[in-house]
Amino acid sequence: MKRVTLLGATGSIGLSTLDILARHPERFTLHAVTADTSHARMAEICRRFRPAVAVMRDASAAAELRALLEDSETRVLAGAEGLAEVAAEPAVDIVVAAIVGAAGLLPTLAAVQAGKRILLANKETLVMAGDLFMAEVSRHGAELLPVDSEHNAIFQCLPAASLGGIDGAGVDRILLTGSGGPFRDLPLEELGDVTPEQACAHPNWDMGPKISVDSATMMNKGLELIEACWLFGVQQEQIEIVLHRQSIVHSMVSYRDGSVLAQLGNPDMRTPIANALAWPERISSGVEPLDLVAVSQLDFSAADERRYPCLRIAREAWRAGGTGMAVMNAANEVAVEHFLRGGFGFADISDLIETVLASLPPVPAEDLETVLEVDDKARKLARQIIQQRT
Ligand code: NAD
Ligand code: MG
Repeated sequence: MKRVTLLGATGSIGLSTLDILARHPERFTLHAVTADTSHARMAEICRRFRPAVAVMRDASAAAELRALLEDSETRVLAGAEGLAEVAAEPAVDIVVAAIVGAAGLLPTLAAVQAGKRILLANKETLVMAGDLFMAEVSRHGAELLPVDSEHNAIFQCLPAASLGGIDGAGVDRILLTGSGGPFRDLPLEELGDVTPEQACAHPNWDMGPKISVDSATMMNKGLELIEACWLFGVQQEQIEIVLHRQSIVHSMVSYRDGSVLAQLGNPDMRTPIANALAWPERISSGVEPLDLVAVSQLDFSAADERRYPCLRIAREAWRAGGTGMAVMNAANEVAVEHFLRGGFGFADISDLIETVLASLPPVPAEDLETVLEVDDKARKLARQIIQQRT
């Protein structure tokens, strides 16, 4: 029986994880769940799964949850200390890192430092502090398994034990696939007028709002490029981004001898989550078997950096190294937040990120304090620029 802490239980990845756990009560038990503010949804989860602990990041949401769970055995904690506590709890075997954005960094790091098996969905953690994070993973003997569908696909197409470095595996290139998002066919001049609702209506995946907008700008693929570099110990030149509209091939590995291995499946995050939860075994996930005859066609094309400037920005940030990636991530989070709220244009997202990057040139990401400081500076600057423009 494996004990699981689920960080970000009320989100899209969180709910998919709960669905898998419910299918395998003989394998997994839920120790703790966490969320930001949504106490009503959290109360439902606690009544159904009866975890020992529930953490709300927000203190008043924790008080509301405590009232809702008055007659339950679930202990309610609040704030950053609560998050770190359940991530590092000695009785826990697996921590699912499914908080969105930079807020996931510290609790995920706490799980790493406690030497857990970590199922990483929170890619922003690796983008902000990949070097430090990977060093901590090896120092504490943590087991890092990718949940992001592309990285889980690459992981499955590589020889066992490839995380952290694929030297000697005969890999020529990694082919990172992306659907191109909801605006892939929209005339470029119409990109300025798109609404948050349109940006969140992804053609193939049902995801949280932030990653949906990231998919529309393809900053998501930029973040994933950096995520792949850290996870597999490769340079960005070894990664080719390929547009694939059907989201059936989740990524590929091309080998020196001309072989290309791909992982295919219906676009449903329960597949990579189940894969990582049970690895190296395989368990059922509830995902419909892939019907290739019904799909009938798989298309591939190159990604146009004029349509998706965030791809170029992410490649440049990786190349420059240091704190530039944390700056890029923070500016993107602020831009997306403002776009989702309305009053900030979709086409202005990449522009804002570049402006903030130009004002905060990268320095070596020597320690966590440096990264957190830079993250804070970049957010403040991004908000200031938005205020001046509106
Ligand atoms: P979501 O918005 O649906 O859920 C986010 C979760 O994080 C919620 O439980 C929320 O309560 C919690 N949260 C938000 N802000 C927080 C804060 N400041 N402190 C603590 N908790 C906070 O997001 P999602 O789509 O499930 O994505 C989660 C992560 O997984 C992201 O990093 C995303 O890039 C990654 N990911 C998601 C998908 C997907 O299909 N949704 C696929 C691949 C990777
Ligand atoms: Mg992905």
